[in-house]
Amino acid sequence: MKINSNYLRLKDSYLFSTIAKKIKAYQASHTDADIIRLGIGDVTLPLAPAVVEAMKKAADEMGVKETFRGYGPEPGYEFLRDAIAKYYASKGVNVSAGEIYVSDGAKSDLGNILDIFDADNKVLIPDPVYPAYVDTNVMAGRTIDTARGCEANGFKPMPESHYEADIIYICSPNNPTGAVYTHAELKEWVDYANKCGAVILFDAAYESFVSDPTLPRSIFEIDGARTCAIEFNSFSKIAGFTGTRCGYAVVPEELERGGAKLGALWNRRQCTKFNGVPYIVQRGAEAVFTDEGMKQIKANLAYYMENARVIHEGLESAGVWHVGGVNSPYIWLKCPLGLSSWEYFDRLLERANVVGTPGAGFGDNGEGYFRLTAFGDKERTKEAVRRILADLK
Ligand code: PLP
Repeated sequence: MKINSNYLRLKDSYLFSTIAKKIKAYQASHTDADIIRLGIGDVTLPLAPAVVEAMKKAADEMGVKETFRGYGPEPGYEFLRDAIAKYYASKGVNVSAGEIYVSDGAKSDLGNILDIFDADNKVLIPDPVYPAYVDTNVMAGRTIDTARGCEANGFKPMPESHYEADIIYICSPNNPTGAVYTHAELKEWVDYANKCGAVILFDAAYESFVSDPTLPRSIFEIDGARTCAIEFNSFSKIAGFTGTRCGYAVVPEELERGGAKLGALWNRRQCTKFNGVPYIVQRGAEAVFTDEGMKQIKANLAYYMENARVIHEGLESAGVWHVGGVNSPYIWLKCPLGLSSWEYFDRLLERANVVGTPGAGFGDNGEGYFRLTAFGDKERTKEAVRRILADLK
């Protein structure tokens, strides 16, 4: 037998293990160091009470013969698909419940969607980038081209005439950079994709952090997107479901390639390889969109965004070039003093006892940059910013 040798082409990801090793080594020789971690991409606030209540109620139903549920519908229960469609309507976006496919999260969907596309398709991926986009395509043996993010384009790469793309990844608000595309910028991508027949895989995992009403929170706010885009979203960041697991893909009815509706292909793929998200979790996800749930969730988002504001304004006051921190929980800064990403990591760890994530870990174009996140504790974040600024003086 032969293995899928594409797996041998995957680059080992040393980013988070190297960070952990460096912290451990530093702590071993500085046992009383008070280290603050601003590198985490995971949420820290607990599930909202409305979500917990809904899941408890659903668990009780599962213990009673009359209300017990076995296998559910693969694309998700109607109650959740309807609630998601209403959430889109509240953003001014018209999406029908039938176009929504519930899953165990955006990471799985973003990888699994590739099953419906030919391995010969050319892929365009921004750099720096959320690493899963690259690795899932390497696994399938696809040719990858890079859309370069840099200071000049505000880490928002735009279409270029030399690209040859069948599949295009866009993540906005972006992880790791925190950059957010405007309507006009997304319109350029949509027009480009429609012109060349490419499909945009739009990762909207951080849309709930956008508070500026002039910025898009869905690719489907853009005219023409329904014929060229699939959107991926998640309850992970809006509602702290990183460990609970629930997300969804939106595949418009009109989206067709090679004479086939992509929604039908995706449904076929999911029905064959996926047996749905637990009823209890879907009831919890539904509760996110109730008035009470939304109120509680907005308080959590505001907590994180206050951290983002503290980091953003601190860096601004010190004249450190950065993007993000506004409409996004990520802050992407240029390493001071011309340091490389890892040099700045070491310096911050040793001199400020603050941990962030070296930008070089997100792609070649991340070298010289550094990611901070707003998912930490409020007081600790303030203290971390105070230390970062003190180190710059
Ligand atoms: N997309 C981006 C850009 C992310 O940063 C993450 C998680 O950090 C995900 C997707 C994964 O989301 P989920 O927890 O729904 O799998």
